[in-house]
Formats: sequence, structure tokens, C-alpha cells
Amino acid sequence: MKIITISYRLPVSIKKAGRKVNVTQSAGGLATAILSYSEKSSSNLTWVGIADFEKETWEKYKDSYSKKFDIEPVYLDRQLNRKFYNVFSNSVLWSLFHYFPSFVEYDDEGFEAYKAANEIVAEKVNALYEPGDIIWIHDYHFLGLGKLVREANPDARIGFFLHIPFPNFELFRILPNKAKRYLLEGILGANLAGFHTWDYAIHFAECVEKTLGIPQRNFVISQDTHHTKLGSFPISIDFNKFYDAFDNENVVMLRNEITSLYEDKKIIFSVDRLDYTKGINNRLAAFEKFLQRYPEWKEKVVFLLVIVPSREEISKYGERKRMIELTISRINGSMGNYKWTPVVYQYQSVDFEKLIALYTSADIALISPVRDGMNLVAKEYVASRKDLKGTLILSILAGAAKEMQDAITINPFDTEQIAEKICYSLNMDETEQAQRMERMQRYLKKHDVFRWVARFLTETEEVHKADIKTK
Ligand code: UDP
Repeated sequence: MKIITISYRLPVSIKKAGRKVNVTQSAGGLATAILSYSEKSSSNLTWVGIADFEKETWEKYKDSYSKKFDIEPVYLDRQLNRKFYNVFSNSVLWSLFHYFPSFVEYDDEGFEAYKAANEIVAEKVNALYEPGDIIWIHDYHFLGLGKLVREANPDARIGFFLHIPFPNFELFRILPNKAKRYLLEGILGANLAGFHTWDYAIHFAECVEKTLGIPQRNFVISQDTHHTKLGSFPISIDFNKFYDAFDNENVVMLRNEITSLYEDKKIIFSVDRLDYTKGINNRLAAFEKFLQRYPEWKEKVVFLLVIVPSREEISKYGERKRMIELTISRINGSMGNYKWTPVVYQYQSVDFEKLIALYTSADIALISPVRDGMNLVAKEYVASRKDLKGTLILSILAGAAKEMQDAITINPFDTEQIAEKICYSLNMDETEQAQRMERMQRYLKKHDVFRWVARFLTETEEVHKADIKTK
């Protein structure tokens, strides 16, 4: 028996280092957790995804690294991949599902490419599938896949998990009917459809009822061929990895470097991919408001803003970058001076040790997405604070806010409120910080990504078993 996992990105990287080529399987949280589950349940793991390398390169190097699980790349024509990924996935589904309907750039070509890509991946999965396997489909790139795999393998155990929000019907209905039906029927191919929160599951059920006329009962959607159970499965992190990293030698060194650099200042920190959903501009405007309202904090606080480059080939992302950089420059120009730069900005990714050093130096993590399926950064910040210091300020529009009950919550559009909460958090005493951190850590330690994988796959099996019995 094997677990076939499908995601757009493959957890493998191929990097050229001079004449050498290094192939490594990723140590990302999701891959590590699924691998660990497959080892414990004595099943093999096969990962299917879209190749971002040439077929020849893979054939040449695929046996040159220590292999923990099987990788099955799918090669897509460059034009097809662009329309599938940049156009339909990221300029239609991503924007619509994150409540940015005005950013939706629908065209039939993009939709056709999306369907074609899902069919190509389905062929691959169908060729790999053997009775008894579990198929786990991930995310908005493969909403059509469940149905395609189900048609070829009526008795297959199929789980689908959506890593982004599912919007309510008023937004979803914007799509042409054929696209609406295709996406919903695709998801309904699964035995279990998982979302980060119950709200997203309820939205999905509402869209199914209003589009396909099938009502849900107790979060089960019944079809002639099988039932689809809906559930809330908030994704999580490898808690111990972040918690233990606090004492890592390099992290300690980097943390000392950061804290001595800003010795006499409080540190506000944020890290996000560049994305219009992350509310970065609102966050900066709120910081500016905070400095205007509480000028006594001038020169006593610094905002370390890390933005990780993302989807640079899509114009909306370039526009957002320019907007953010203008705001940073306005704040630094009008508030800063030769001794003090209020916003210290980097548009580059950071490695794991630097990330932990930044998390554990920060007095505040300011996380203000205007819409976010979950937001793992919030959980990582909390998990890494072994010292029980620091405060998490978190948007109510991030899935994580449902679980991070001791965060200081904000409405990301309410810059006045954010400014107030920054002030409150900077003045928070260490006892309150520790109480909040401790409670959130206790929750995260229990609800980590290993438990998440086990819960999801066990439930997929159970739902499938119950369905077979009733047949
Ligand atoms: N992260 C990263 N590179 C960096 C900084 C952070 O890959 O330079 C990671 C971070 O640790 C987190 C992820 O990116 O695990 C971001 O996940 P989140 O759910 O917060 O947002 P997403 O980018 O998935 O929308």
C-alpha cells in the first residue's frame, strides 16, 4: 500500500553548485510529516507534482541522492503551465478565493489549460494507482483532479485538502457556470474534503447546494457513486523543530547580533511572501499612524520587514511591490533621521536560522493579512518563543486566529485599531506575555503537523470504509 500525494510543487530541489548538481528532498513541514506518517504506517510514499526542471536533468540525477520517498514529476508544456498556473490558478482562483474579485482575470483559455493540466496529472496518478493506495490531493491547483481519478478508479480512497480559504457563494458565483460546476464536482470526487476552518467548509457546502442542487446533511454530500465528507483540519507546524531551534548555536549568535544592533529599541517583525492578501501596506500605514499618535516611541522602536519574492511574473505582484516600497520610503523619509530608520526592509528570503533569530528577537510579530487560509508564520513565531517573551498581533481574517486564542487580534483594515494594539503590546508586561505564549504553545504542541496528517489520512480511510460498507 502507498500514499500518493499530489501538490503543485514537488518537495525536491535541484541546484547547480559549480560543476556539481545537488538534488535534495525538501525538509518542509508538510513533506516531513507525511513521510513520518507513511513510515509509521508501513506504507510507501509517492509524491506527484509539476516539474520545475527539465526531464533530461531529472533522468540524469534522479538516482544521485539519498531517497526517502518516490518523486514522480509531471512535465507540462511551458505555455500550458503558464496559463494553468499564472492565469487560472493564481489570477482567478487565488484572487477570488481570497476575496479579491476585482483582481480576477478570467478567460476561457486559462480555464481550458487548467482542465488540461488536471487531466495530465490525473493520467499520471491513475497510472501509479493500485487498489488499497490512498490518494491525497492538495490545494487549488487540482480542484478537478478528484473527479478525474474517481472516474478511473471508482473504489479509490481519495482525500482532498484546500490550503486556502473557500469563499462564500456571492463570490464564487462570479465564475462562469461551467467553471463552477467543474471545480465543485472535481472536489466532490474525494471521500473527504478538508478545509482549514468550518467556515470554509460551510461556504463550500453552500456553493454545492446552490450550484449543483445537492444539499449537505451533517457535512456529508451524497452522490450516487459515493459520499463526500467535509471537515475542518487546521494545518499546523512541526512544533518541536521551532521550539528547539531557540537554543541552536547559530540562532543564538544571530539573535545576539540582532538584539545588540537594536539594543535600545523594541523590535516589531513581520515576514510574508509578497502578496496582496498579506495586508502589508495596511500594516505599514498602521505603523505610521502609531508613530504619529505616540511620538514618544520615535527612535525607540524599529520595524523589521522581510518580504519574500513571490509570483514575480504576475503584474499585480509587481504593482504591490512598488506600492509597499513607496510607503516604506514615505515613512522613513518623513519620520526617520540620520540616527534612526523606522522601517528596515529586505526583499529577499531568509534561511531557517535567520528566521528563528528574527522571530526570537522580536517584541511583536505583526501579522495582518486581509485574508489568509491559515498563516503558518503566526504559529511559527509562537512555537519558537521558548523564552515565553514577545506578543503575537494577528488579523482576525487569518485562519490561525481561530486557534491562536491568546493573540492580540486586529481587523487588518482598521489602521487606528492596529496602532492602538501596537502600543498596548509594546507596554505589555512580561507576565502577561508569558501567560499568553504558554497557553498558545500548549495548544500548538498538541496540535502539530504530525497530528494533522494522521487525523486527515485516518479520517479519509474511515469515511471510505463506511462508504464501502453501505454499498
Ligand atoms: N518562509 C520561507 N522563506 C522565508 C521566510 C519564511 O519559506 O524566507 C516560510 C515560513 O517559515 C512559513 C511560510 O514561508 O512556513 C509561509 O507560510 P504562511 O502560511 O504564513 O503563508 P503562505 O506563504 O503559505 O501564504
